[in-house]
Amino acid sequence: MNVDAQISEYYDRLLKRNAGEPEFHQAVSEVLDSLKIVLEKDPHYADYSLVERLCEPERQLIFRVPWTDDKGEVNVNRGFRVQFNSALGPYKGGLRFHPSVNLGIIKFLGFEQIFKNSLTGLPIGGGKGGSDFDPKGRTDAEVMRFCQSFMTELHRHIGEYRDVPAGDIGVGGREIGYLFGQYRRLANQHESGVLTGKGLSWGGSLVRTEATGYGLVYLTEEMMNTHEESFDGAKVIVSGSGNVAIYAAEKAQQLGATVVAMSDSAGYISTPNGVDVELVKQIKEVGRGRISEYVDQAEGTYHEGGNIWEVKADVALPCATQNELNGDHAKQLAENGVRYVAEGANMPSTPEAVHYFQENGIHFAPGKAANAGGVATSALEMQQNATRDSWSFEYTDQRLHQIMSNIFKNVDRTAREYNREGDYVAGANIAGFKKVADAMLAQGVI
Ligand code: GLU
Repeated sequence: MNVDAQISEYYDRLLKRNAGEPEFHQAVSEVLDSLKIVLEKDPHYADYSLVERLCEPERQLIFRVPWTDDKGEVNVNRGFRVQFNSALGPYKGGLRFHPSVNLGIIKFLGFEQIFKNSLTGLPIGGGKGGSDFDPKGRTDAEVMRFCQSFMTELHRHIGEYRDVPAGDIGVGGREIGYLFGQYRRLANQHESGVLTGKGLSWGGSLVRTEATGYGLVYLTEEMMNTHEESFDGAKVIVSGSGNVAIYAAEKAQQLGATVVAMSDSAGYISTPNGVDVELVKQIKEVGRGRISEYVDQAEGTYHEGGNIWEVKADVALPCATQNELNGDHAKQLAENGVRYVAEGANMPSTPEAVHYFQENGIHFAPGKAANAGGVATSALEMQQNATRDSWSFEYTDQRLHQIMSNIFKNVDRTAREYNREGDYVAGANIAGFKKVADAMLAQGVI
């Protein structure tokens, strides 16, 4: 059987065995597409059902999370942890608390995480978890009780050498604090390496908060430099206004760019003279408010329900959520002069959008390469925990910068090696895959 037929037969089987999980299908389909060229060149990567094993999580946990709200009512949410692949190191990946969470979403994120973590060059496997719990509008006490209940089940499945969760959408410093407190109580030990994104006084790392956004900009700058361009003087759209978006905007502006738009799920703000990042932090991080509040306090226009991709810019950094940028948006971006797109969120561009970018000469860096700075800095946090050390901001930031630059070089070189110059999707998928695949082949059929 030729490689094409082999891959499509396998993909059909995956669709049947994982019905109703469109995001997982989308993530797998993109990787399998890139793997065709690997299998043609190196057929041994298909040995021992390697690709099938890679697409099947090592373990999937689904559990009940009951908790009592402030009115005394009992609520029931569903908790997930998908331990996808531990060939390179303990499972590593965030927890997402959002009403849209279901098994298919966690599987897509866990699958992406395998390749992303491999690309960091650090010893971490891939996993992801979360819950359909919606923290929006909940009091601190409610969030705490939810986190305690969630950890009461999860604690038996994680550990410094087993599985190390962190944050993602809806899980930040507050949630990690409550989760860590409950783990410490149940395990009766202060095992700092069990979670990352911790507070600075109890095992956290400097730069972890900024890492995904900063890393995204470091990698994008590297990509722009290869085309004799840079952030200096560039106009940038940053979708979202959460942790990734805020620090991407901050770093882009430090490098001389003007962030002309940011958003949340209700609308976007346009800020032609640049965004006041400190104000966005104040609104979103401290006040847990909406981006619309920005225009009450600073120059800018709020567009309720608007489409952020209609703003004129040179660079677009989608940092909100999966499938936020479709084929029509991609076309609109191109017509408005955007030349670089790099994903701060996980899989924010639909397959149609990615295809459009690649066909129309827009330089595109996929999330598994571009947003790997967060998890990479988590791995640096684990290193500090293992040696009971804490590094300076400058040193940690320099390590992050180096890691992002290595990722770009590796992805770029791999794309060339497979005659796909400039195709960073293929470069990222292939480079990420080969390291995991070699480890899996060496470790036997497990
Ligand atoms: N949630 C982040 C990601 O998508 C970070 C995970 C981590 O630090 O473990 O990569």
